[in-house]
Amino acid sequence: MGYVSSLLPDEIRRVISDSNKRANEGRQEYLRGESRAIGSDYELISCPCRDDCWCRRDGCSGHYRIREITFDEFLATYVTLWIDPPARKNLKEAVLRGTPINQRPRNAVKPLQRLSENWSTTLGKARGHDRCGLCDSTEPLIGMASHLRKAQMWSPLYEGKIWSQLYYDSLAPFDMRSLAKIKRCGYADPMKDFCVMNREIFRDLRRLAGTHGLGVLGVRQLDSPWTVLSQLLVPAGGQPLSRVVDKMFYSPG
Ligand SMILES: [Zn+2]
Ligand SMILES: [Zn+2]
Repeated sequence: MGYVSSLLPDEIRRVISDSNKRANEGRQEYLRGESRAIGSDYELISCPCRDDCWCRRDGCSGHYRIREITFDEFLATYVTLWIDPPARKNLKEAVLRGTPINQRPRNAVKPLQRLSENWSTTLGKARGHDRCGLCDSTEPLIGMASHLRKAQMWSPLYEGKIWSQLYYDSLAPFDMRSLAKIKRCGYADPMKDFCVMNREIFRDLRRLAGTHGLGVLGVRQLDSPWTVLSQLLVPAGGQPLSRVVDKMFYSPG
């Protein structure tokens, strides 16, 4: 049994709520940024899965998919979600204009520039993937694995955030703060294999959901940032699955 499936849903709700409370105290205004991103960059599509898919058996009503946005819009959301406010402007200029950057996220520059060069193809692939992380089929992720082999990654940490943002309902990111916990809990090291880590955690999440009869919506509802910050809108389909998984392991500052 893995870490996630060894917990009770209430324990997970508490861990995630603590993560949200800490995020709400930080200067990043993360919860507002996250809420804006769901509204502007993602659409809820009806579930295309067959009746034998896990998600379908458990009452899935739809999956989040990235909208037809520009690279500049993607980049604006990237810095809002993942980068500390003082470094945001510099990172954007480094990516778009090649200006030098000495701050911590400098390792994000190359992967983001490469993404910009391949934007329409990559966005097309991401939009072609209509599954969610709870689906049985891991095929689309395996198909993507060639992009994710470590040899081709400049920085698994910053590149993982890109992939998560592209596949917001299927891939969770990681950070130095969550990396230790992910490894301690016995999941694959995402620095070595980002896809395997995701596959293992989502498999475990299905196990948890099965044991407690949560269903897809119940899993999404493990995260409810609007209970921490009441002005936030409740997204129509609940929280994207990457948000739920990320907050089980990541807690700011
Ligand atoms: Zn579904
Ligand atoms: Zn499915």
